[in-house]
Amino acid sequence: MAEDNFRDSIGTINEEGQREWVYPKKPTGIFYKYRKWVSYFLLLFLFASPFIKINGNQFLLFNVLERKFNIFGFPFWPQDFYLVVVAMLIGVVFITLFTVAFGRIFCGWICPQTIFLEMVFRRIEYAIEGDRGKQIRLDKMPWNKQKIIKKGSKWVVFYIISFLIANIFLAYLIGSDELLKYVYDGPQAHLGTFIPLIIFSFVFYFIFAWFREQVCIIACPYGRLQGVLLDDKSIVVAYDHKRGEAENGRKKFRKNEDRAALGYGDCIDCFQCVHVCPTGIDIRNGTQLECVNCTACIDACDEIMEKVDLPKGLIRYASEDNITKKAKFQFTPRLKAYTGVLTILVGLLVGLLFIRSNIEADILRLPGQLYETTAEGNLSNVYTYKLVNKTTHSMDSINFKLLSHQGKIKLVKGDYFKVQEAGLSEGTLFIEIPKSEINGEENTLKIGVYKGNELLEKTSTNFMGPRSFY
Ligand code: SF4
Ligand code: SF4
Repeated sequence: MAEDNFRDSIGTINEEGQREWVYPKKPTGIFYKYRKWVSYFLLLFLFASPFIKINGNQFLLFNVLERKFNIFGFPFWPQDFYLVVVAMLIGVVFITLFTVAFGRIFCGWICPQTIFLEMVFRRIEYAIEGDRGKQIRLDKMPWNKQKIIKKGSKWVVFYIISFLIANIFLAYLIGSDELLKYVYDGPQAHLGTFIPLIIFSFVFYFIFAWFREQVCIIACPYGRLQGVLLDDKSIVVAYDHKRGEAENGRKKFRKNEDRAALGYGDCIDCFQCVHVCPTGIDIRNGTQLECVNCTACIDACDEIMEKVDLPKGLIRYASEDNITKKAKFQFTPRLKAYTGVLTILVGLLVGLLFIRSNIEADILRLPGQLYETTAEGNLSNVYTYKLVNKTTHSMDSINFKLLSHQGKIKLVKGDYFKVQEAGLSEGTLFIEIPKSEINGEENTLKIGVYKGNELLEKTSTNFMGPRSFY
């Protein structure tokens, strides 16, 4: 099993247990071009979303502290948390389904870590320090003026971008209006926010300047799941070892040599696929946990194949079964099972969204308060109410009416109240009910929430009465 010793350690740790710095060659090729376009779109989406408003609501907002959440411009409340749970379950099953079918396609094309590292920070590094060879020479060089300028300017640009990313994440948390207000007021007016912002900027800087591919290899739990999720039918970035090795293995290219007749495979052992790999592995060793399916090795190998006049696709999206048995993509029972679960969950979410009410009312009896008897001889309990308006328009003329019992509801502040769009209204009210309507200590009341005479929502609460009447 000597040829399998690459599995004994990860590609970026050397035999002494030290970090082996990866200097990936700048990728070029059709997949890289498509990945660039996907990343431009996703970066634009990430940076623009907090500043887009729909009906006055931020497009995406996750304000945990004030418990305000907007998804695609729709306000959600902590009361809607069950929807978030179902949505998260859908996300997990969707990613699992995709991983079983297409491996770590998410990591290579969509993951923010890959996009920021490969499409932002690494490209700045290429622009300042040059390609792989130049970077290696620069790192080996003693500290001189050239090295100080290049490294210093790179680190400054890296920190500025990290600071920008931290600000964008803050806009998702506190809202872009609030962020712009903080910027306008200046850092000294909001030190409690500014200091954590600086710390988080350093965290991003640390990740993209130093920790880099270690996130995907060591820290990311999704990466660790690959061993469980992938099988021989999963389509991943794979080296066609049948074609690449043939009977006699790989061999350097020689012009006018009939490789096929000599039993050599199509791999010319040029190491371009290794040099371009951002996680420092050799894909020819087979599927490995470090591989983020970034497709850089596909592009590199295709370029070489073109140069030596051999068919492209020696490294390509393929399953092990496709390589060894020429099997086409199959919709396996495992995929069918995940698709079934996903369909049920999506159906459930759509149903829940459909029946989700526009307002949420909670009426709770004030703790520690006993019932009282009014001058008219009715029984009275005191309550607090909370009314959440989940819509994007304000609601006025809101009032409560008893549905299950005779009696009346008296708001402390007038007969009606107003709830702002995506707002919350709180207050105190009294419920008075004739003694004849009350049946013992615990009574459940049904209450309607009305806008004028239009019933919007029903809720219930408890009414306390005397233990018994004689
Ligand atoms: S092996 Fe290929 S696809 Fe996997 S990380 Fe390396 S370059 Fe990307
Ligand atoms: S780039 Fe292609 S030909 Fe070159 S070593 Fe890798 S697999 Fe072999």
